[in-house]
Amino acid sequence: PVILGIESSCDETSASVCVDGEILSNVIANQTIHEAYGGVVPELASRVHQQNIVPAVQQALLNAKVNKNDIDAVAFTRGPGLLGSLLVGVSFAKAFALAKNLPLIDINHMQAHILAHFIGDHKPSFPFLCLTVSGGHTQIVLVNDYFNMQVIGQTLDDAAGEAMDKTSKILGLPYPGGPLIDKYARLGNPDAYKFPEPQIPGLDFSFSGLKTSILYFIRDNVAKNPDFISQNLPDICASVEKRIATILLNKLQKAAQEHGIKQIALAGGVSANTGLRLGLQELCAKNGWESFIPKMEYCTDNAAMIAIAGYYKYLNGEFAGQETAPMARMIM
Ligand code: ATP
Ligand code: MG
Ligand code: FE
Repeated sequence: PVILGIESSCDETSASVCVDGEILSNVIANQTIHEAYGGVVPELASRVHQQNIVPAVQQALLNAKVNKNDIDAVAFTRGPGLLGSLLVGVSFAKAFALAKNLPLIDINHMQAHILAHFIGDHKPSFPFLCLTVSGGHTQIVLVNDYFNMQVIGQTLDDAAGEAMDKTSKILGLPYPGGPLIDKYARLGNPDAYKFPEPQIPGLDFSFSGLKTSILYFIRDNVAKNPDFISQNLPDICASVEKRIATILLNKLQKAAQEHGIKQIALAGGVSANTGLRLGLQELCAKNGWESFIPKMEYCTDNAAMIAIAGYYKYLNGEFAGQETAPMARMIM
């Protein structure tokens, strides 16, 4: 089947074409308008989605060399995400399906981040564990089957990506800060500064305490030396990145041991992080586990993951009706 995938949950407008389980295009329109505000402004995001959605779909069809009359189903992100952003993608998908008399497939964005591992040849087998780390989520997921997933650990407060973005804001870096922390961390010493590891029982996470300790650390040092940040940026970024990565990987190791699972995957925007990717590879090598790390373009929000998820739902014959409404919050 030929599946058109649509993603618009946050600030990326994306369209992708998947033919028989193979991704032929993945067009991502990023929104730069939010940089000036230090975070995504929901009302602006949905307006830019409206401008970008038709060109993104046209480009995705063009890149895949697929005619719009050859599409068999339209898969779209139903949630979780920003309601105004989701509405644009959901409305487009519905209108397209109605005009072409096609079935609709609704996709959970967090499941799709995980199903991105089924793009390409290096596919995990069930059951596997996935650490999903993004701007809004931090979860350890036990993946039993394509659409049978169990969250066995999650953050009690901030997400890992939020910790990255808030740290970069404290450091005076522009939004989104995760990629910049990564860039400067490569030039610094990860053991220069020690930030505390939160003591949270079980497989859950907490990042709000870390954020506060970073805030006080910077405030106290800048009081003594106004140039503290600019003089030590690589060391600060490397130390913060190392702490966030070790918090994540320690819990992931615990989860793998408790559940006796030897295949470990990363997903979501923060899985683009160099320190985390290297850390997972090291952890897996040490334990004799196999690691699965998505290609960069499938880490942050993209429609290829929606299209591949749509492909597996299509094979199951699971379709959605025209009455399907977007959902800002959605459980697995
Ligand atoms: P969700 O998927 O939870 O709804 P989202 O869609 O906003 O949230 P993604 O697009 O998956 O999240 O990820 C965005 C996050 O990834 C941001 O917090 C960003 O800072 C972070 N990020 C992206 N690249 C890197 C990197 N190289 N290192 C660290 N963090 C990164
Ligand atoms: Mg984003
Ligand atoms: Fe996402």
